[in-house]
Amino acid sequence: DVPMQKILQNACQSYPSNTAITFYNQKITYQELYIMSQAFASALQKKGVKKGDRVAIMLPNCPQYVIAYYGSLTAGAIITQVNPMLVERELQHILQDSGAETIVVMDGLYPKVKSVKQHTNLKNIIAVSLQQSKAVFSPDTSFDEFMESGDGNINPISIDPEHDIAVLQYTGGTTGRSKGAMLTHRNILANVVQCYEFFKHELSIGSQRTLSIIPLFHVFGMTSAMNLSIYIAGDSIMLPRFEIDEVLETIKRERPTTFPGVPTMYVALTNHPKAEEFGMGSIRLCNSGSAPMPVELLREFERKSGAKILEGYGLTEASPTTHCNPAFAERKPGSVGIGVPSTEYKIMDLGDGTKEVAPGEMGELVVKGPQVMKGYWNMPEETAVTLREGWLYTGDIAKVDEEGYLYIVDRKKDLIIASGYNIYPRDVEEVLYEHPAVREAVVIGVPDAYRGESVKAVLVLKDGKMTSEREIIDYCRANLAAYKAPHIVEFREELPKTNVGKILRRALREELSKK
Ligand code: ATP
Repeated sequence: DVPMQKILQNACQSYPSNTAITFYNQKITYQELYIMSQAFASALQKKGVKKGDRVAIMLPNCPQYVIAYYGSLTAGAIITQVNPMLVERELQHILQDSGAETIVVMDGLYPKVKSVKQHTNLKNIIAVSLQQSKAVFSPDTSFDEFMESGDGNINPISIDPEHDIAVLQYTGGTTGRSKGAMLTHRNILANVVQCYEFFKHELSIGSQRTLSIIPLFHVFGMTSAMNLSIYIAGDSIMLPRFEIDEVLETIKRERPTTFPGVPTMYVALTNHPKAEEFGMGSIRLCNSGSAPMPVELLREFERKSGAKILEGYGLTEASPTTHCNPAFAERKPGSVGIGVPSTEYKIMDLGDGTKEVAPGEMGELVVKGPQVMKGYWNMPEETAVTLREGWLYTGDIAKVDEEGYLYIVDRKKDLIIASGYNIYPRDVEEVLYEHPAVREAVVIGVPDAYRGESVKAVLVLKDGKMTSEREIIDYCRANLAAYKAPHIVEFREELPKTNVGKILRRALREELSKK
């Protein structure tokens, strides 16, 4: 039980000259990273930041992210990670709700912060200028000036890892208004160690090279692309955005060994015409999470890359990982694996969630473990609904097989009810992904006067492939019970996605229900 920032100090003590971060042609060692995070902490304290004050970080993946993260923890602050893609209204909600007085922001995003500032408690705006960004001049302190403004001294802060919040992590908002999950030092560190235990057969301390493209502001990126890499004194090879050609060039140049990603990233890599020519051979371990990994995609990516994908499952409220396919035992495609160490789980009825269902049956997944949040920030009612006697109600429908492997069926909120039948979009999507012309598929329920809801598929096709609505419907009827087959098929150039690459069902549903 130690404060989170201790893992950086440990890496610095054991491997001071190892590269901690690679960012284009910049390499930063553990010693340098540690010293810079200390300087940042000292500057925060000089500005008057005290234990428990909130510091917002609104940056793409870059070295300053890690410096600000570890520096803020060292100063005793609570970090609020903010997605750079948020629009003013969403940004204002997070800044107001968290009450952050300090923000570290990429200079190109400065205008957004400025326009909401008067409605928030913001006092300190620290602007990061990235060489790669189209710099917009900002009149506030630059990151480098800020780091130099401390006197190098840090007032020691006593942290109680079990109770003190390290990160106030706002939920992605895929399903509704964003809530702040209070993740303690213990929560976050526990999940790093739990993931390490699951992957350690494929990881080596002091020499792992992680391709860090999933956003660090998202809890999956925070744990697997930043904190786990620091825990094993590895090199985190960062890219601020997912641009497929740049990703392939980086893989060729930097030869990463690990790649945590979301399914849409594996889609892009699998379908890139030059993927094989570039070679992904250095990558041995991929862990996929955040959204379902279609089985067909998993097989195709593994065939093309030679890497092994371990699919896991988690959510913001659990820092995030609760389940994963293990590196040391059987993997089951389509399943999200078994519980990570010290994690209990059970499946409860879909009614009021008070009765456990029979083995093999579907119900709501509830989990308990050291990674489960303390509650939602300033939301006692939501907390009481989500956390019951220490059990986290995930809102996901799941089932467990006889060997304890978990299958996520769907989100409770995504269930489609058509003519009285329950249809799980994922069942239909799995079949659509097997169709040779389909690149991406999402299935949602749209209002239907006769059936209540009707199944609609929205598809993006692979380059150069053609098909028709009729052909897709017939194909689904041949491969699924008739009531599950879509009645309507729409083709699009792309699907709306969150910045983490998750398909935004809610946006599609809202848009289509207006039509
Ligand atoms: P919000 O909670 O605000 O609606 P969000 O969906 O972006 O937003 P996250 O905490 O980022 O919130 O995502 C957690 C959810 O992602 C899980 O509850 C689950 O529905 C889904 N998920 C994560 N991993 C998987 C997986 N391997 N397979 C299927 N679904 C997954």
